[in-house]
Amino acid sequence: MSTIKRLLIANRGEIACRVIRACKRLGIESVAVYSEADRHSLHVQQADMAVHIGGAAANESYLDANAILAAAQKISADAIHPGYGFLSESTALISLCEKNGIIFVGPSMESIAAMGSKIEAKAIAQALDIPTVPGYNGDAQDLETLLTKGNAVGFPLLIKASAGGGGKGMRIVHEACEFEGALKQARQEASSAFGDDRVLLEKYIVRPRHIEVQLLGDGHGNMLHLLDRECSIQRNYQKVIEEAPVSHLDDDVRQQLFDCAVRLGRHLGYRGAGTVEFILDADSREAYFLEMNTRLQVEHPTTELITGIDLVECQIRVARGEALLYTQQDIRANGHAIEARVNAEDPANDYLPEIGTITLYREPIAEGLRIDSGVAQGSEITPYYDSLVAKIIAHGGSRGLAAQRLLQGLNNFAIGGVKTNQEFLTSILTRPAFHQELTTQYLAQQFPNGWQPWGESMHAAIAAAALAMQQESAGCNPVSGTPWQTMGGWRLTQLAGTVATSHLWLKTANGLQAMQIQGRHGNYFVTLVEGCDDGAKSVSFPIKLYHSTDSNGLQRQWRVELEGTHRNLDIAIVGKQVALSSPRLRRSYQFVGLEESQLGEAAAGKSAGNDVRAAMPGLVTDVLVREGDRVEAGQTGAVMEAMKLIHNLPCPVAGVVAQVRVVAGDNVEDGAILISIQPDDESL
Ligand code: ADP
Ligand code: ADP
Ligand code: MG
Repeated sequence: MSTIKRLLIANRGEIACRVIRACKRLGIESVAVYSEADRHSLHVQQADMAVHIGGAAANESYLDANAILAAAQKISADAIHPGYGFLSESTALISLCEKNGIIFVGPSMESIAAMGSKIEAKAIAQALDIPTVPGYNGDAQDLETLLTKGNAVGFPLLIKASAGGGGKGMRIVHEACEFEGALKQARQEASSAFGDDRVLLEKYIVRPRHIEVQLLGDGHGNMLHLLDRECSIQRNYQKVIEEAPVSHLDDDVRQQLFDCAVRLGRHLGYRGAGTVEFILDADSREAYFLEMNTRLQVEHPTTELITGIDLVECQIRVARGEALLYTQQDIRANGHAIEARVNAEDPANDYLPEIGTITLYREPIAEGLRIDSGVAQGSEITPYYDSLVAKIIAHGGSRGLAAQRLLQGLNNFAIGGVKTNQEFLTSILTRPAFHQELTTQYLAQQFPNGWQPWGESMHAAIAAAALAMQQESAGCNPVSGTPWQTMGGWRLTQLAGTVATSHLWLKTANGLQAMQIQGRHGNYFVTLVEGCDDGAKSVSFPIKLYHSTDSNGLQRQWRVELEGTHRNLDIAIVGKQVALSSPRLRRSYQFVGLEESQLGEAAAGKSAGNDVRAAMPGLVTDVLVREGDRVEAGQTGAVMEAMKLIHNLPCPVAGVVAQVRVVAGDNVEDGAILISIQPDDESL
């Protein structure tokens, strides 16, 4: 038995905060590590101690095993918890831990090595009679062998990176002639992401369900499964919504998956928490082993909520050498849990990740709701790491109740300053198909043309944001003794005694949108101009805005009234930036005044739109055009990777490529010009 008094968490964000919570409960001192970009992050504030480990880029900090070890030695930590991602499945960190007498909270080096390669993992599964997806997972990696094997598997097929994770290094091949090109791309992606370009081939299952089994072993002969989860709602092979247990699953299949997972776990002598992933063909009903993840998963809270078992606490106990106190009979599902990943991204704009400051942050509090968050009001979302802001997990007696609680939770989760995918998540949950059998095609089928937010009440939201901002800058004085006092604490807000018309401009992707506000004593008449010049049309409507202040006079609450309907709003104002959050709407607006609007129009040079620019700092992974090429507007010019996602950057205009300023592998700054295009129409 070993003692753990001081545990270093080699991670950041919500999972670092999650492990810190477990430490507090177990009376263990927690140590955060942080990169240059995370100096003020929540996990640093929450831990008992924090050590700076290096630069903002992950490979200079959270991926640097030597830096992590040095930090652990500096403060004499007796154990390291790797979280998920980063070094959680790296043999380098374990080996350093072993050499230096530090406990690694995770499985053995052998388990990680065996399951880290999909080729080897599949071979082990096959030897244990666990069904695997038909395909090729041999050692020979030459094109000729792979193509022959690929033809035998048949099309469509999937090329997968053996070292892959997070959906990277995967390519679908629909027919033989695409094989060579797809192989090259998969290999390139795999070697740059994992330093290993070996691939395997699998039959592409057209309607797959992603089902996984949670394992927990203690190295003393106990190997339990903690039931199953479904993660079929995915985008780009990445999970968006996860739940436990799996619905619409036959008992015999479920039992088969439990048996396979436990058999694999026993074979490995697996210690700690791990997950065996399967794919279930919704057409043939066949289930196949996919891979094993030798770490805690992002979606582990769903299992915790239905089993009542704290997985992080179990990991730490097992790492101390304790035997599990549970037997398989103790593991029972209590109700249903669903998790949604709240990301800083813009689903309406190709899910582009958002960077910036979270100016408004208020978590929902309700029965059956758990929030695992890595941020607070004032936190920065930087371009260096993934865009996960928080996980919201709902638990209820039935799947329906869990879904309802999750929806309410998302509605009442106020986040402003950066865009989030909250509305997208609520759309997913409110489709009737959400209650039928799910497959990984769900999002493509439900949103065939991509997802767009609801138009409803958009105008009212813009007006409320503008009014609140004017109000705030005018030094809002609550009017006392008005008839509105009968409304309790709510007061009509008024601009400092004016009746005059004020002019304001809203910044949009297409330029500036003019608006006019007239009114007083909280009763306003707003005119919004949409489009420009000939195509302009305006919308006018009356609107009222009230506010109240909480008992200590700090937090202001807002309420807007439009056509007799009242809505409560959370509003945060920083200069002319206004973040607004109400149950079905979350927006950040940037306004400009008269002077700035004129400057802006002059500065927006006429030819500014002819370049392909980086939408954020990141890595250029592919350049698809050459100087002199003819391109169409919308054609992908370059591909970038930032915040763990791949972004296709379209050419803004049709024309001829005048200059290519980058090559694959370049790191670029936000806004950098990657490709210049000479447009067809010279007058542009
Ligand atoms: P990763 O290591 O990137 O998680 P996985 O092998 O677990 O890779 O696969 C990730 C996802 O890709 C799965 O959840 C599933 O949606 C899809 N996928 C994997 N293999 C297949 C397949 N043979 N056919 C269809 N989809 C697949
Ligand atoms: P979608 O376009 O995603 O299908 P809809 O607006 O059509 O969304 O919503 C489908 C159903 O779900 C409707 O009955 C709608 O009222 C309800 N709904 C949608 N979003 C929410 C939400 N955030 N909270 C509560 N109910 C919602
Ligand atoms: Mg996987």
